[in-house]
Amino acid sequence: MNVGIVGGGQLARMLALAGYPLGLCFQILDPATDACAGQVAPLIQGAYDDATRLEALAAWADVVTFDFENVPATAAQVLEQRVAVYPPAGALAVAQDRVAEKTLFWELGIPTPPFATVDCWEELPGAVVQVELPAVLKTRRLGYDGKGQRVIRTVDDLEPAWQALGGVPLILEGFVPFEREVSVLAIRSSSGEIACYPLVENHHRDGILRLSRAPFSGPDLERKGWDYAQRLLNRLDYVGLLAIEFFVKDGRLIANEMAPRVHNSGHWTLEGAETSQFENHLRAILGLPLGATAAVGHSVMLNCIGDLPEPAAVLAMPGAHYHAYGKAPRPGRKVGHLTLRAADPAVLAHGLKRLLPRVGLEADAI
Ligand code: AMP
Repeated sequence: MNVGIVGGGQLARMLALAGYPLGLCFQILDPATDACAGQVAPLIQGAYDDATRLEALAAWADVVTFDFENVPATAAQVLEQRVAVYPPAGALAVAQDRVAEKTLFWELGIPTPPFATVDCWEELPGAVVQVELPAVLKTRRLGYDGKGQRVIRTVDDLEPAWQALGGVPLILEGFVPFEREVSVLAIRSSSGEIACYPLVENHHRDGILRLSRAPFSGPDLERKGWDYAQRLLNRLDYVGLLAIEFFVKDGRLIANEMAPRVHNSGHWTLEGAETSQFENHLRAILGLPLGATAAVGHSVMLNCIGDLPEPAAVLAMPGAHYHAYGKAPRPGRKVGHLTLRAADPAVLAHGLKRLLPRVGLEADAI
């Protein structure tokens, strides 16, 4: 079977690496000649809205998927006319707009922070009254890894935040003084089969995910998260892996956002679950039976931001796994990740203290 992937970053790369044992072939569309997935699969170099390139991909592929959600709607439409495209274009459209996303959460009874749309400077005072401060002003579209957002603590912060972000449609959200952040990774196959991974606890710095730990022990939260995920999967007639990020406050889940693709907070599943998120996404979009999602021991995933640690020192640690993405080092860039897995949480905690400084975090960061 032939799988086309729009977007050639590390997610496409890990999808291809997970798909080869299943006998799958890949082609990847990306505007960059040095897209890192191009090191492991043939790369079609072209813009995401290049109709000729999209048609070529659609003609070759049995199914097309994405490694990021901001694929132009026109590209998804060109593809959908010619080939099976999963996740569906409708799910991408919702995930591309923070207002559409939060509105859908509300419709499905999934709690969110209070929010208001802000299309011009004059609308900002009304939004502040509605949402109340502190709040977070975000671009509705194209924000990721904390980019395109500003925290507003007092009215004095409004003008600079507007200067930084204004001119495009915005959303003002209530600031959630959360106790922790968690994510739910859920999969639905084209036959309607649904599976969910154990709850994941996430730690961000400056809006960028730095560390994920799974399974996070919180049976009530996990049950709730799986319930919310199923509502979304079924409403969107979703096929593939869907990630939903939540804040935890007073024992409740408050949805922040969703990603209609494999997700950074699921990288631990490569070694820490019976079936990785990458393999299960491929199984789902190809209509194959889903693999078991149970955790194998306890895992922590650490992102390598900017540069990579020395492999030998990491690999010398029992239970440590090293993933380099083949990307040039650059400040703020995700260039790889490490996963530490252990049967015993105490052993994991001990190893983690040694590993954290290797990715630029303090030994007592969590
Ligand atoms: P996002 O780009 O929406 O995923 O935001 C990146 C990170 O910023 C989140 O993982 C949180 O750590 C923080 N953040 C975003 N929105 C809020 C909010 N409404 N309240 C508190 N923290 C937030």
